[in-house]
Amino acid sequence: MPITRRKFFKVAAATGAGACAALTAPPQASAANRPADPGFGMLNDSTRCVGCKVCQVACKKVNELPAESTLGDGGRLFDSPRGLSDRTYTLVKMHRDEDSGEATFVKEQCMHCLDPACKSACLVLAFEREETGAVTWNSRKCMGCRYCMIACPYNVPQFEWHRAIPDISKCTLCHDTRLVHGQPTACAEVCPVDAITFGHRDELLRIARNRIAADPDRYDPHVYGEHEVGGTGVLYLTKPKVSFASLGLPPFGYKGVPRLTESIQHGIFKYFIPPVAIYAALGGIMAFNQRRNKLKGETEHE
Ligand code: SF4
Repeated sequence: MPITRRKFFKVAAATGAGACAALTAPPQASAANRPADPGFGMLNDSTRCVGCKVCQVACKKVNELPAESTLGDGGRLFDSPRGLSDRTYTLVKMHRDEDSGEATFVKEQCMHCLDPACKSACLVLAFEREETGAVTWNSRKCMGCRYCMIACPYNVPQFEWHRAIPDISKCTLCHDTRLVHGQPTACAEVCPVDAITFGHRDELLRIARNRIAADPDRYDPHVYGEHEVGGTGVLYLTKPKVSFASLGLPPFGYKGVPRLTESIQHGIFKYFIPPVAIYAALGGIMAFNQRRNKLKGETEHE
């Protein structure tokens, strides 16, 4: 029976998948990639935020960013702008409970991951996780591939589409403008209700746990970012009935995104066995078909 292209691809896919499954390493802790000192970060307490957006204005001011509106796009007043952009590095969004109508506000910005996917994806090392805890980007190194935009699980890095020589832009945790001068982030400094706390990440975790323990009816017991994607510098608290996912914080696993992609890549290319297995299968099929055609030709000549 001749082996068709369809059959070949089925066999090749099955061979590759089987080899990959056998060789892909199980999830491992990415301790080697976690910084010994996580540095500074922020604790965003969505149970305290009143949605005044003063933090958003302070961010624009310190980063010299223009005002931005998407009202002409059918948006409502509070939703303007609708998402992060090259002109908006942080954004307060509203979640309204469908049953009670209660509003919860949540601030969005770079999470300053301990094991940043953007940094791992960057081919030219334009991203850096500074000792302060800030994940920064260097325009002199960037070649504009935009892999960081694809790699980031929170869709944070933005591209300056309107410029002839565009930059990547995102929250820098005020690294150059304030942190190196011993000042807290601009957004945390101006928050009138202490919904944003700036500090060392270890201290922020302690504060978060204390708040939960002191008022368990007010808080969901989970601190988002303590472990998600290998840990983030920006941590979140939410109300018991308002899920983190509804606030735009998906239930990602506890493994750093780069560890996940690397384990798949390493599994596929470990000892080059899966590619070799696929080529061996291809060679076997070719030999089989050649032999079959030869026998067929001999039979027709008899
Ligand atoms: Fe990088 Fe995205 Fe993590 Fe920020 S949230 S550090 S841009 S991977």
